[in-house]
Amino acid sequence: GQRVELYTERKDELGELAASIADLSSELEHLKTARNDFLGSISHELRTPLTYIKGYADIINRQDLSKDEIKEYTAIIREETEHLTLLIKNLFELAKMDQNKFSIERKQIHLQVLINSIAHRITTVFAEKGIAFSWQCPDDILVYIDAERFEQVLINILDNALKYSSEDSSVHLEVCQSAESTEITVSDQGDGIPEKDVPFLFDRLYRVEKSRSRNSGGTGLGLAISKEIVEAHGGTIQIESELNKGTTVIIKLPME
Ligand code: ADP
Repeated sequence: GQRVELYTERKDELGELAASIADLSSELEHLKTARNDFLGSISHELRTPLTYIKGYADIINRQDLSKDEIKEYTAIIREETEHLTLLIKNLFELAKMDQNKFSIERKQIHLQVLINSIAHRITTVFAEKGIAFSWQCPDDILVYIDAERFEQVLINILDNALKYSSEDSSVHLEVCQSAESTEITVSDQGDGIPEKDVPFLFDRLYRVEKSRSRNSGGTGLGLAISKEIVEAHGGTIQIESELNKGTTVIIKLPME
């Protein structure tokens, strides 16, 4: 570090080299901190459900409980186990992505067929929570995508729209195509996201208001995974949001 600094002030090639070495080492330092933060978050995220599981198992073990109480506590244990399973599955998926061990298999897909099939499955789930789901997609759009992975992205985003919206609101999915790209937009009228949180939404394990998201069963990995998948398709994903007004997620896929 220090020796490099001796040269960074120089205006010649040596100075340039020293400056880029200095950049590199600060980048490495940054990566190290990011990795440590991530490991810290992982152990926290794994420990929380385990604490619940152990706690309720102890209660069931120690006390004389009614049948209903046992039912209630085992249901919590079950829920926490499911959450852990999902968390581990998602972490594993991201690890595979980091090692480039995940492959996308792209095919020519009729986007409207894919969206109709998703819409068909989710409309009832939305209606059960009093949320109206609508969608619009021109019938002539062909995209070159891994349908299974891409469906995972859309389900993640729609699931968020559902989780973070209240009843009597609506969620709309819209597809439009320009000369450069196919754009898929999902807008909701839900909780929205504070401005300060927006830049971090795609970070792993990042959640706005931990408890709110935790109650909704989120792991904080859905958007990170979605971003990896969209980028593996050469596309981009961005989020615009206003607190208490709603959120819009925009996916752009370049024309092949
Ligand atoms: P989670 O599994 O917790 O939902 P995500 O990675 O999918 O994790 O999203 C990260 C965080 O972004 C969420 O915890 C939530 O706080 C916020 N978020 C995502 N989508 C929305 C949305 N449509 N409305 C409000 N907040 C959202």
